[in-house]
Amino acid sequence: MRYDDSPPQPDTAPAPGTDRRRFARRSALAVAAAVIAPTTLAGWVLVQVGTGAGADDARPPRVAVPAAAATGTPAASPTAAGTATASPSTGPGTGAPASGAPAPSPGATSPLAGKTVVVDPGHNTGNFDHSREINQQVDIGTARKECDTTGTTTRAGYKEAEFTLDVSRRLRTILEGRGLKVVFTHEADRAWGPCITERARIGNEANADAVVSVHADGVSEGSRGYHVILPAKVKGGAADTAAIVGPSRALGERIAANFARATGSGPANYLGGGTGLVVRDDLGGLNLSTRPKVFVECGNMRDSKDAALLTSPQWRQKAAQGIADGIVGFLGG
Ligand code: ZN
Repeated sequence: MRYDDSPPQPDTAPAPGTDRRRFARRSALAVAAAVIAPTTLAGWVLVQVGTGAGADDARPPRVAVPAAAATGTPAASPTAAGTATASPSTGPGTGAPASGAPAPSPGATSPLAGKTVVVDPGHNTGNFDHSREINQQVDIGTARKECDTTGTTTRAGYKEAEFTLDVSRRLRTILEGRGLKVVFTHEADRAWGPCITERARIGNEANADAVVSVHADGVSEGSRGYHVILPAKVKGGAADTAAIVGPSRALGERIAANFARATGSGPANYLGGGTGLVVRDDLGGLNLSTRPKVFVECGNMRDSKDAALLTSPQWRQKAAQGIADGIVGFLGG
């Protein structure tokens, strides 16, 4: 859920829609600084050429699809991505994408060997019973905000925190199958939380090669689709994201493209300008991260059609597979 992570803005407790417009505009700013280059039949590839600072507030082309181009690999056509997914994890160690890579030579080291992924299941089902604890204010460098939030639910009562833990466990199984070390920020092992500051710290202290926080949104009926939240460039207190903005975008673009392919879902129709990517500067979990990190909002729990997907174990497996493929691709596997 996004707006539940919003900061105590000096001028607000904004309505979700207010938040959303602001972030949609921010996303447009970031995307406006990109060059849209046509490639392959898969469509378009975003090539970032600037930080977005000072960019015009132009709307991004709605045809733009985040593709796995940031590291120079082919755009993620279903065929190419599927090939990469099915490839063995034992690449030649050159960092080349698995698709089209030569067969592994004897004794070759997987590019994934020794790498660590931190998975952060958003929220905690126990948060509903621990309002006082999760409402304590914590310092995210650029602001103070709540330690954690409850997250949303479907109209039938399926909790976002149940969803995030289930997808995270599926994700771990896939990633460990590829030889990656996986660390969770929590796993039904505590009554509430952890605070967003601790969630960030776990990724940092694990020296994670990639960190993914799993969520689902809670907005109005008719708002559908996934989006990936990327860290903005922020500096303040303990927050300094300058070093992770670029790699986090590369990670997020990989995940968005693979999530779309694996689930068949479209990018969010209510923010992000149709790109499935949103840049935010108010999330403690991103601001305090020193490792490449994104949030994945898998769908809208308050929309009946999205809810039908989110409550399906089969769909959650696809979601986990898409996220995993994005991470593996980002890590060179
Ligand atoms: Zn959430």
